[in-house]
Amino acid sequence: MVRDDFRWQTAGGGQPTLFDLPEREIGTGEFRGLEFLHVRAKKIINEIGPKSPVPFRYTINAYRGCSHACLYCFARPTHEYLGLDPASDFDRVIVVKTNAIERLRAELAPSRWRGEHIAMGTNTDPYQRAEGKYRLTRGIVEVLGETRNPFSILTKGTLVLRDLDVLVEAAKRTHVELCFSIGTLDADVWRITEPGTPHPRRRVEAVARLNEAGIPCGVLVAPILPGLSDHTDQLDEVVGACVDAGARSIAPVLLHLRPGVREHYLGWLADARPDLIERHVRLYPKSYAPAEERRRISELVRELVGRHRGRTRLGPGPRLSSRFDPA
Ligand code: SF4
Repeated sequence: MVRDDFRWQTAGGGQPTLFDLPEREIGTGEFRGLEFLHVRAKKIINEIGPKSPVPFRYTINAYRGCSHACLYCFARPTHEYLGLDPASDFDRVIVVKTNAIERLRAELAPSRWRGEHIAMGTNTDPYQRAEGKYRLTRGIVEVLGETRNPFSILTKGTLVLRDLDVLVEAAKRTHVELCFSIGTLDADVWRITEPGTPHPRRRVEAVARLNEAGIPCGVLVAPILPGLSDHTDQLDEVVGACVDAGARSIAPVLLHLRPGVREHYLGWLADARPDLIERHVRLYPKSYAPAEERRRISELVRELVGRHRGRTRLGPGPRLSSRFDPA
């Protein structure tokens, strides 16, 4: 249900207004269960503040909310900001910036823009279900290709393969990097923690298809969930499959739990795996697990990558830039 107290036209608490009041559409057919809020964005290229540790400065997010519904999603609090529920609405009420493509054309005008790298997939998945209906990411890729503007996409959506044609065209004209997020191949863990995402095996296949098509594509083994997907055998399985798929880079990211996400994830864990709560309380007095634990996981994954590359006689292999690597 759309609530009356949205922070749309009238800014509350001194916060800036984001969008004009939305038009609402209920999903039907393959989009059943979703609700779309159509908005006209005032700006589509977002600039990240200089103090942020992330390895990119400009982002585009054509949607807010994400039907991939990952339990641990770091972006859930962005729904709260709109007066929506970060737990129940985030997965099914999707804000669609219907004018994203026209805004991008305007903002890329040479008099206003210097051609900096733009990252997508930083706050919502650009290839979630809504993209099958609105095709905004496809249009954005076309515009970035036409204007020779370098860009990267981080996704869990195999829908990206629909856009192979425009990605290949863009890659002929500018620097394009893709990255899949594949935290585990354990089907039980995947089903309960990322219920709206494509099966991780389909994602591995997509990594192979993209690299074969000449689009450099890496993998973030992310997030690695303590007690659920951090066993050496589980990591070995996912790393081995990604090496075989020709992933251009493989980097791990251990779960982080920022305020807002922490309550959601730990609330779920308390029901599903109460035996893991004590470990999480110990690991997460803050949003990030201790540096020592992150280092241990990074070293383990690095060793597994080396072992599998040795098995396939690939050698260390080429690397993407560090744009997707954890900061
Ligand atoms: S795919 Fe990414 S943006 Fe979407 S719910 Fe999962 S973590 Fe969040």
